[in-house]
Amino acid sequence: MSFVSKISGTTKVCGLIGNPVEHSFSPAMQNAAFSSLGLDYIYVPFLVAPADLGQALAAVRALNLVGVNVTVPHKEKVLPFLDELAPEAEIAGAVNTIVRQGGRLSGHNTDGAGFLRALAADAGFAPEGKNVLVLGAGGAARAVSAALARAGAREIRIAGRTAQKAAALAREINERVHGRARAIPWGEEDLLEVLPDVQLVVQATPVGMHPRPEDCPPFPFQGLRSGHLVCDLIYHPPLTKFLARAKAAGARIMNGLGMLLYQGVLAFELWTGVSAPVEVMRRALAEELCRRSSSE
Ligand code: NAP
Repeated sequence: MSFVSKISGTTKVCGLIGNPVEHSFSPAMQNAAFSSLGLDYIYVPFLVAPADLGQALAAVRALNLVGVNVTVPHKEKVLPFLDELAPEAEIAGAVNTIVRQGGRLSGHNTDGAGFLRALAADAGFAPEGKNVLVLGAGGAARAVSAALARAGAREIRIAGRTAQKAAALAREINERVHGRARAIPWGEEDLLEVLPDVQLVVQATPVGMHPRPEDCPPFPFQGLRSGHLVCDLIYHPPLTKFLARAKAAGARIMNGLGMLLYQGVLAFELWTGVSAPVEVMRRALAEELCRRSSSE
């Protein structure tokens, strides 16, 4: 790659810590952004086993890294190793971006804000006063629900496979954001009952993600109308079975690529202090998706 030949003693290093990391689209997106603006930065994925997380964070300080993204399974576990947390990270109880300033590490969560920006920019959707149905109660559901609550969503109904997790997430949202969240059972009748009163549906489980695109979470698609915006946080494949069925039922749809893009845009801006080249990053993601799809 052309930027490799430009690495020198002044090059600033950002990265990703996770396990696994080889599936990540972030190196392609961030390196394209640095390169297009002529910034002397590079983004490198680091495979970090759970037992080595503390040492990896010590290395972020010792090796003078600018910062790192954090992905599964470290997003929650990384909190005790940080010096400070931004409010979104505190509310989400998870960090996806770390910034090193001097010897201090601050934790941020750009997933929720990235989702909101994708909603606004790519779907023209404003959550204020709207009712939302979230499927899943994991890290992404947490970040998205907290961001929607902060953005003024009227009520967030959370349906989780594990009822206790959905209840705990709804409780935390209500306590930390003073949002109106409520756990509901994940049954066909229960979902059908709330759908007429919901404007946004967010699919926040990994069901249907590569390499199992044939999977689809159980959902009463017959209850969808043209007034529903249905989002799947999955971006690979770009059209999940869930989104295809929602579209066939008449709903508007949005995949997870916009959230991936804007969480990266926000991380880029935190590390560099420079406005991110959004279209360059969007193109790099689309090319990466194309490359992966054609090699599978
Ligand atoms: P996670 O923390 O592991 O949570 C996964 C959630 O999905 C849990 O609530 C889990 O239920 C539920 N789940 C898993 N398998 C299920 C099944 N077969 N049926 C019903 N529910 C099931 O994962 P995550 O980090 O939240 O990620 C969720 C999805 O969001 C992934 O596809 C990920 O790629 C995507 N994501 C996208 C972006 C983006 O930028 N677009 C960012 C983050 C995540 P239990 O609690 O019962 O285990």
